[in-house]
Amino acid sequence: MYLIFRCDCGRALYAKESVATRKCVCGKTLKVKERRIFKSVESVEDASYTIQQMQEENYGKTGFFTADSIKFHRRF
Ligand SMILES: [Zn+2]
Repeated sequence: MYLIFRCDCGRALYAKESVATRKCVCGKTLKVKERRIFKSVESVEDASYTIQQMQEENYGKTGFFTADSIKFHRRF
């Protein structure tokens, strides 16, 4: 199982259930057990899909993205 949570910087992250800490790209190390879990999913595919949805919510609900920014968001 994979747990999905947010860093204080607003980025969505996922971690395997058995993992204790996860480092965000902002440099902060998060203790998975201390985070409020947004969702738990069964596979990496589901986790990255959910995170993609969360990032899109974060960066704008309008749906206007350039091709470059879509590529950027999908890296997460
Ligand atoms: Zn962060």
